[in-house]
Amino acid sequence: MTDLPYQIAAALRKSRSVFIACHVAPDGDCLGSALALQLALARIGRTAQVGSADGVPEPFRVLPGAGRVLTAPPAPPADVAVAVECSTVDRAGTFAQALLDAATLINIDHHVSNAGYGHLVYWDTSAAAVGEQVADVVAALRVPIDREIAECLLTAVVTDTGSFRYRNTTARSLRLAAELVDAGASVHQIVERVYETRSAGNLRLLGLALAGLTLTADGRIVWTQITPQMLTSAGAMPDDVTGIVGMLRQIRGVRIALLFEVTPQGVRVGIRSREGARSHVIAEAFGGGGHQEAAGFTASGALDTVIAATLAAAEKELQRAAQPSPPSRP
Ligand code: AMP
Ligand code: MN
Repeated sequence: MTDLPYQIAAALRKSRSVFIACHVAPDGDCLGSALALQLALARIGRTAQVGSADGVPEPFRVLPGAGRVLTAPPAPPADVAVAVECSTVDRAGTFAQALLDAATLINIDHHVSNAGYGHLVYWDTSAAAVGEQVADVVAALRVPIDREIAECLLTAVVTDTGSFRYRNTTARSLRLAAELVDAGASVHQIVERVYETRSAGNLRLLGLALAGLTLTADGRIVWTQITPQMLTSAGAMPDDVTGIVGMLRQIRGVRIALLFEVTPQGVRVGIRSREGARSHVIAEAFGGGGHQEAAGFTASGALDTVIAATLAAAEKELQRAAQPSPPSRP
């Protein structure tokens, strides 16, 4: 462990009020980590508020504290703010200003594309989930992991490792998971809630999205789109889009999968890749970010224009991935 978790713990111990921000379209890692930190602070008598501009998706509403998550910025500003896996402050959406207004800003992230903002930057791309980093902060606070904290942190680890199936899963992820199970959390319960429970609309939307897929670049790129009309005819909610792009990547021979979703904020592009093709490089070309095998961005142009530009960037990345890697430096 670096000494950053200890520096963060010291800043949190000294705080009078803490604000913890999730990124827009929050996932299980972001919410589980934010709620675990809130619980740990409560255990040492510190009040913290968690904010999520886009609220809490259904599978995570059972997590302790989920019902108190703010969707509008707190007033007055907290003296310490924590950005949970926000590569840039803007990723907190309507909470960005609340982060900037705090006297001390703590940035905890595991995305490759973090901009390094804030007074304390705990950036660890080797962490499969930001929950692994928050577990280090909880340990540095000397708060024992109880069942509630364990449930939040295990949700983070299970969701960001795709239930321990993705390449990012390490011995560190598994050791932490074992500790969390010992503390009373259940992998089965989280998997049931997050992956094994769907609405009929969610499955209908999946059917429509998969039926409309297109393969290009000799079957190495796959893409599909989701429009508001598709959501309506499937009887689906925007959260139901989660998980579809990962399924596209399963197609044999596919190295890059792209999902284009028309939203009121613009075209949201989800990217998944494998075998050396880098999702985050494609996303960064359009102002987004993420990880090597999972990234995203939102573009303001027309759907057709965004699709054409993203496919061109994906083909460029495939060509680069096909090149032999340059000799490594001694
Ligand atoms: P998603 O496709 O929304 O599941 O996102 C995949 C990964 O990319 C997640 O780790 C996101 O946090 C990250 N990501 C998505 N959109 C952006 C963006 N606009 N900027 C930075 N990271 C992003
Ligand atoms: Mn994450």
